[in-house]
Amino acid sequence: MTKISDLLKKFDLTGDKGGLEVFSPIDGSLIGKLEMNTAKDVDGSVKKAEAAFDIWKKTPPPIRGELVRLLGEELRKAKDDLGALVTAECGKIASEGLGEVQEMIDICDFAVGLSRQLYGLTIASERPGHHMREVWHPAGTVAVISAFNFPVAVWSWNAAIAFVCGDPVIWKPSEKTPFTALACQVVFERALKRFRDAGHDAPEGLLSVLIGAKDVGEALVNDERVPLVSATGSVPMGRAVAQDVAKRLGRSLLELGGNNAMIVTPAADLDMAMRAILFSAVGTAGQRCTSLRRLIVHKDIADDLVEKLSKSYGSLRIGDPLDKDTLVGPLIDDEACKAMQHSIETAKSQGGELICGGERAKDGTPDGGHYMKPAIIKMPKQDEIVCHETFAPILYVMTYSELDEAIEMNNAVPQGLSSCIFTTDIREAELFLSSVGSDCGIANVNIGPSGAEIGGAFGGEKETGGGRESGSDAWKFYMRRQTQTINYSKELPLAQGVKFDVE
Ligand code: NAD
Repeated sequence: MTKISDLLKKFDLTGDKGGLEVFSPIDGSLIGKLEMNTAKDVDGSVKKAEAAFDIWKKTPPPIRGELVRLLGEELRKAKDDLGALVTAECGKIASEGLGEVQEMIDICDFAVGLSRQLYGLTIASERPGHHMREVWHPAGTVAVISAFNFPVAVWSWNAAIAFVCGDPVIWKPSEKTPFTALACQVVFERALKRFRDAGHDAPEGLLSVLIGAKDVGEALVNDERVPLVSATGSVPMGRAVAQDVAKRLGRSLLELGGNNAMIVTPAADLDMAMRAILFSAVGTAGQRCTSLRRLIVHKDIADDLVEKLSKSYGSLRIGDPLDKDTLVGPLIDDEACKAMQHSIETAKSQGGELICGGERAKDGTPDGGHYMKPAIIKMPKQDEIVCHETFAPILYVMTYSELDEAIEMNNAVPQGLSSCIFTTDIREAELFLSSVGSDCGIANVNIGPSGAEIGGAFGGEKETGGGRESGSDAWKFYMRRQTQTINYSKELPLAQGVKFDVE
């Protein structure tokens, strides 16, 4: 196993001085120290980004795409080391750490293609000798604020798209995972060097990384020179960001908490449903925004399913995420373990029956780490605690009789990120996907709620914030739309037949 100091060296990082101490969720050891930026540093980064924007917005999009192509190549080379660093710093198991870097590579590939497809529209004009079109221009500096649980992928979903759209990026990663962010900056600089060596002009300030706490995020959010703030994290964070950005009439793209459900009907393939439940409820130790938190099962099959699930939960390998046999790694910190235990106690006080798990996992786990046994709790109804996102592996199970009732429960929480149904009945599946079905940004059939691909637009409704990033036409968030009308006639007719003749 590579030592953390060796991993850091691969990215020219030492982590030997500074006021921010970063601890490993795996065993509580000190990963390293870093100097913190403060709110005052935001001004310098914004100025550098504005200077970069002057050059980058004039660079043809396919040339901008070439930089992102090189970034994808450098990420391929760095995949093993960066994946291992993700695991070391945020605790997700090795294959998920690598998967996260693969997602970065995928979005780079997507963005390279996109760089030749920033399509606008031509529009029919009502006036003779006129035509109209809709054109997309670069928007300007994009601030990216990211959460600890996808410490590198979220940056790339934003940055790869922003770069081809012509925008510089200022990134404030989670203060819990700063080393992976600095490693990404190093990988980006490798790509930048190759881009410049090939004779292209790549301005300084195209990417700045600011290591800091909430105050740095707030300074970015309140900076009028930043037209777009893309913020990923908890609902309280998003609420604050949305209000601050709105106050200055800026634009925010919010990717906030989820509270994702799976409906299992009597027509489901139960073996498939079981596998999907296990990955989406306990994978990443329940620390995905798309983790499965609510299982809504038909009453006739619930007891059997819960019994089987509880058996599988008993054999989950919990431990060091760098060990290839581990399926459940640690939570990010002790606070997260306590929040999980608190939610379990609250659920019990609201009539919940703890079926299994919920305690600290001690056997076979490294000392000093934050390991919890994933919990299953049967709830008599979808009570208050079930409507709250606890960022930990707790699965609440509720039953239903009629599918309409299950869909109503799916929708009756404040969040609206991901959802799914397991059924082999086409009527049930189509109802769930229809306009009276799931109200979430993501709706799946016979696939768990977590583990999205980059090709689709990612995000959710209601308290999840309404933002969309990654694939499809999410790129439009990163550009400004301009409607153009061109008069190639010798007349000056007004629209809607208005007459305004001057003698
Ligand atoms: P968090 O809200 O504590 O922090 C996220 C980031 O926001 C950090 O960088 C933090 O420093 C910054 N921040 C906090 N308050 C701020 C403020 N007022 N102004 C500006 N910046 C501020 O979240 P976390 O604990 O790191 O991550 C877990 C949460 O993120 C969960 O709720 C999860 O569902 C959500 N999440 C959502 C998505 C998504 O795409 N929808 C993806 C990953 C995580």
